Amino acid sequence: TAKSDGGNAVVVCSDEMRAANDDHAEMEMHLRAAIRDGQLEVYYQPVVDLESGAISGVEALVRWNHPVRGVLQPDSFIDIAEAANLSGELGRQVLREACRQLAQWNAMISGTPLFMCVNVSPAQLITSDFVDSVAIELETYGLSGGSLCIEITERAVMHDLAHVLVTLRGLEELGVRIALDDFGTGYSSLAQLKVLPVDTVKIDRGFVHELGVDHDDLAIVHSIVGLADSFGLDVVAEGVDSGRAAQILLDLGCRYAQGFLFSPPVKSDRIAAMLRAGRRSSPPLRVTTLTPS
Ligand code: C2E
Ligand code: MG
Ligand code: MG
Ligand code: MG
Repeated sequence: TAKSDGGNAVVVCSDEMRAANDDHAEMEMHLRAAIRDGQLEVYYQPVVDLESGAISGVEALVRWNHPVRGVLQPDSFIDIAEAANLSGELGRQVLREACRQLAQWNAMISGTPLFMCVNVSPAQLITSDFVDSVAIELETYGLSGGSLCIEITERAVMHDLAHVLVTLRGLEELGVRIALDDFGTGYSSLAQLKVLPVDTVKIDRGFVHELGVDHDDLAIVHSIVGLADSFGLDVVAEGVDSGRAAQILLDLGCRYAQGFLFSPPVKSDRIAAMLRAGRRSSPPLRVTTLTPS
């Protein structure tokens, strides 16, 4: 866009830029309507206990059922939501649906209840009523705080550390668990472990997917697991898409994993089917053949 003040401002706006702008404006308009009309859908990806192969929890991952473009991944609209001030409402809908679904699944299964992981955007995390809204959903669906895990990224913390800390302490009081998502990709991952009341680190899939091949990745994952251990934190590896990676993670002492090896994010009825089939992620579940070292 042009500067409105300068007399000799040069307007540089190619056709592509204009098209991208129009596209963005249109997406924003449609997203606003989609949120209003309930076109967002929550998919779930199993979080698997590597030792037993059982589904221990799930991560809620939002999708947008776009009438023309089909099912859209969050990377194509989360930033638009954030910029358009829609992430609060988007996040509320995801949190509510995830809590409702968790209560339903936990009523259906026996044994240890599942946990639910919900991603929260930087802006959503520091809205003044965030902790209250979490408390309300827990109460509404009769869930314990410990069955919910809120996933935050380093980006959120860099935004406004003081504010984030207040929120995280509020969540802590509710017994809600806190995970650092995409761990290891930021500038100050270690500093964050020191200052934040974190329970879980999620190893970014960038370090995981070539685990069987890349020695640097192996060293990094080994270090993260050791670090988490000494802080008394749980570790979840993301992006586990081979039995080899799963085996290495298990050998390194990483307890939980998510990835296409077990299941991609799926609709809620697929999760229900997996739970009915015995809390196993969808076949073939090669990890059950692994033996702990
Ligand atoms: P994330 O929280 O790190 O989620 C993990 C992403 O990795 C998901 O992408 C998942 O589909 C993908 N993934 C899982 N296993 C594998 C694998 O084995 N291989 C590969 N290549 N990918 C795998 P998705 O669903 O597209 O979500 C992308 C990001 O969007 C999420 O990253 C999260 O940061 C954000 N997001 C998703 N849902 C929400 C939400 O409700 N609210 C907010 N604020 N952000 C969300
Ligand atoms: Mg996540
Ligand atoms: Mg991640
Ligand atoms: Mg805690």
